[in-house]
Amino acid sequence: MTEKICVRCGKIFKSYFYETMCYKCQTEKNLEDIKESILSGEATSTNCESDVICPWCGEVIEGDCETSEFYEDGTHVFSCPECDKEFTLSTSVSYAYSTERELPSYVLREREIVRQERLKQQVTVESIERG
Ligand SMILES: [Zn+2]
Ligand SMILES: [Zn+2]
Repeated sequence: MTEKICVRCGKIFKSYFYETMCYKCQTEKNLEDIKESILSGEATSTNCESDVICPWCGEVIEGDCETSEFYEDGTHVFSCPECDKEFTLSTSVSYAYSTERELPSYVLREREIVRQERLKQQVTVESIERG
């Protein structure tokens, strides 16, 4: 890891590989490139970006927690607050996995109920046989 000067903002940043810009500038540059290709007509869609980018005007659309389209898996029709044009927004929610040894308590409870039921049945069967 070496320290470099960002060619865009002039700030010193830590570089792992061959980057010439700091992370912030790289992200900004990336968005600018996308916007440029949309405005020039080269691109009419964006794919798997971490931001919602209007395919008409190239603006990044900031959602808040009220913008359910951004959080619901599936295809939505969304209108751009910048240019008022409608476009298809496909949202894919990503999943994160974690594991633990303990089983969820509702599963343990269900299993306990099943076990108790079995015990009861056994007792009944035994008393019938004895009877
Ligand atoms: Zn920079
Ligand atoms: Zn727009």
